[in-house]
Amino acid sequence: MLAACAVRVEDSRGRRYPEAPHPYRDDFQRDRDRVIHSRAFRRLENKTQVFTRRYSDHFRNRLTHTIEVAQVARTLAGALGLNVDLVECLALVHDIGHPPFGHAGEKALDAAMRAHGFSFDHNLHALRIVEDFEQRYADFRGLNLTFEVREGIIKHSRDYAAREFPELGEYLLDQRPPLEAQLIDLADEIAYHTADLDDGAEARILGVEEMRAAVPLFEMFYSQAEARHPGALPKLKFNEAVRGVLNLLVTDLIENTVARVRAAGVEKAEDVRRHPERLVGFSPEVERQRNLLRQFLYDRLYLSPDLKPEKDAAERTVRELFAYWTSRPQALPSSYQEKMRHELLPRVVCDYIAGMTDNFIQEQHAALCGKTVVAR
Ligand code: MG
Repeated sequence: MLAACAVRVEDSRGRRYPEAPHPYRDDFQRDRDRVIHSRAFRRLENKTQVFTRRYSDHFRNRLTHTIEVAQVARTLAGALGLNVDLVECLALVHDIGHPPFGHAGEKALDAAMRAHGFSFDHNLHALRIVEDFEQRYADFRGLNLTFEVREGIIKHSRDYAAREFPELGEYLLDQRPPLEAQLIDLADEIAYHTADLDDGAEARILGVEEMRAAVPLFEMFYSQAEARHPGALPKLKFNEAVRGVLNLLVTDLIENTVARVRAAGVEKAEDVRRHPERLVGFSPEVERQRNLLRQFLYDRLYLSPDLKPEKDAAERTVRELFAYWTSRPQALPSSYQEKMRHELLPRVVCDYIAGMTDNFIQEQHAALCGKTVVAR
C-alpha cells in the first residue's frame, strides 16, 4: 500500500566500515542476522519483561517479548508494503539496551547515574552495544550495522534534540525516522499491552470481570466470544478476546497509517523524513480506547502491590552493586578496568550492570553484598 514510501536497501546510507556485498543476503537481512547472533540478544532470555521466573516458565521474558514484537511489526510492514527486513531487524534489536529487572532495573540505574550527574537511557545504551561492546569481527569493533538500523535504534521511540545530544548529530535529528522505524514503538505497545493482559490474568493479578468493566475493547471481544462459544472454557474465551483486541489494534494502525500518509501527500521515503510529524499512528477513537487499556494496566498491573516486593528488591540490588563498584573500581573485571582509561567510572559501572542478566546480577549481589535479595 505504501511501497513507494518504503526504505529501499539500495538507497542505504551504508555502513561505517565498507564491506563487500554478500552473494544472497542484502544489507538489512545481514544486519538482522548480526543482531540475532549477538551476545546481547541472547542475554534477553534472562531479562525480566514484567514477570520474573518465580511465576512460571509460561510468562514472557524480554526475548519472547522481542519475538512477539517482531511478529507484529513484520505483519504491519508486510501489509503496508514497507521494508520487512529492516523492520524485523529494528524489532529484534529494540530492547537490546535494557538492563536486568525490567523497568525497575532501568529506574534504579538511571537514579544511580543521576547522583553522579549522568543518566541512563536504554536506546543510547543499545547504540553503544552495537557500535562498540559486541566484538565478533576482526576488522572492526561492534556489529558495523547500516545507518538506517542505527538511526532506528535511536529514533524509534522518541526524538532527541540535537542541542542536547551533539554526539548523535549524524542521525538527522531534525528529521523524522522512516516509517519502518516509526512503527516499531507502536508494534511494541500492541505486543506488550495484549501480552500483559494475558500474563496478568495468568498470574491471577488481573481478573476477567475487572478487565471487562475497565477496558471496553476487551469487553467487546469477550462478549462476542461468549455469544459465539458459550460452552468454551473461560480461558479460551479470554484468549479469543485478547486475540480480538490485538487484531483490531493492528488493523486500525494499518488503515489509519495509510490514510495519514495519503492525506499528508507523502510519496517517497525522503518525504516521510521531511514531514513535520510522525505518520504511523492509530485513529483517534482507537487511540482513546488504547489509553483506557494502558491506564488499566498501569493502575492494576504495573503498579500492583503484588509486583512491588520484587521491584523493590530489584532496585536495591542495582543500587547496592552500583555503589559497591563505584567505591571499589579495583573489584571490576579487568576488561572494565581497561575501559576506565577513556570513560568515567560511573559510566563504566553502569555499562557493566546494564549488560547483566537477572541471574548474573543476583549472583553478583549475593557474592559481593553478602545477602540475597529475592522477593518472597
Ligand atoms: Mg519492548
